[in-house]
Amino acid sequence: MRFADIIGNAEVARALVSMADSGRVAHAMLMYENEGCGAMALALAYVQYLNCAAPRGGDSCGECPSCRQMAKLVHPDVHFVFPVNKGPKSSDDKPVSESYLKYWRELVTADPYFTEADLQKAIGIESKNGLIAVAEAKSIIGKLSLTAVADGYKAVIFYLPEKMNQETANRLLKMVEEPPAKTLFIFITHAPEKVLQTIFSRCQSIRVMPLSKDEAERVKALKPADDREEYALFMDLFSDLMNSILARDLMGTLECSEAVAALESREKQKAFCIFAGNCIRKIFMVQQNLARIADIEPQEEAFITSVAARCGKGFCAKAMSDIEKVVSMIDRNVNSKILFCDLADRLFISI
Ligand SMILES: [Zn+2]
Repeated sequence: MRFADIIGNAEVARALVSMADSGRVAHAMLMYENEGCGAMALALAYVQYLNCAAPRGGDSCGECPSCRQMAKLVHPDVHFVFPVNKGPKSSDDKPVSESYLKYWRELVTADPYFTEADLQKAIGIESKNGLIAVAEAKSIIGKLSLTAVADGYKAVIFYLPEKMNQETANRLLKMVEEPPAKTLFIFITHAPEKVLQTIFSRCQSIRVMPLSKDEAERVKALKPADDREEYALFMDLFSDLMNSILARDLMGTLECSEAVAALESREKQKAFCIFAGNCIRKIFMVQQNLARIADIEPQEEAFITSVAARCGKGFCAKAMSDIEKVVSMIDRNVNSKILFCDLADRLFISI
């Protein structure tokens, strides 16, 4: 990935280039973003630039052996950590990121703006929580203790450090504090407040800004077609549901809940809940006059704004917590018809 290929965040890109050019490379960096705004693309372009044999004009060349390895995510000195769990795509009893590396490479090379849900789908753990367990820390420490294969930087790109437990963090801490020479850690988080303080405090933090409408459109156009179809389906379901609730049409509301319960799998139902939770968060942001940083897509703006104006101030917080509860109940195999009927009822009452 070259900086030239990144959509948005030109200022962050410039700051990274200037850090690299001046030799002030922070050995631990924490990038925080709203999901899908390009932190992974920036991290990849940065590491590619640092290791490029012939950088020019503030960007990597894209052609040298190191750049070509980076493009395929097979650079021997660049490692990835991301939340995993046991699943059908790996036979490992205690899986680590490496157990799913093939699927990770496919996902990230096809769409560096992927979401956490995309990752779970790609590695086949949709119905589980991804975690960064202590086995991961051992694996990374092992890799970093080896001599670099090439002459450049060794890097660990760490996706969602908030999914790491205390034990994992304790294991990694010394390495993050005093890494071997020319080694850097880049943490990418969507929830900086949940990153363990021991890690957070040792990182230089960088805010990756939300994308503009135009940039978000361009990112969206890069996404695989089935993602766009799912978005359209979920948006239809969610807007039917909200419109019925706001019209005080209880029968219509319950019909919408049945349509959600009829989605073909529990994974899809869960994905819908995450989608609906996101929409409600956007509605909440509009109510708080924070629309500009809410990542609202152009095609949903009119709908989100109109719902924000029509529903009560306390609705969003309550709805988000109700939806979160449903997600955990889906994991526990509760009957989905009952679950979504109950959710629709709660939303109907609390609007
Ligand atoms: Zn190069």
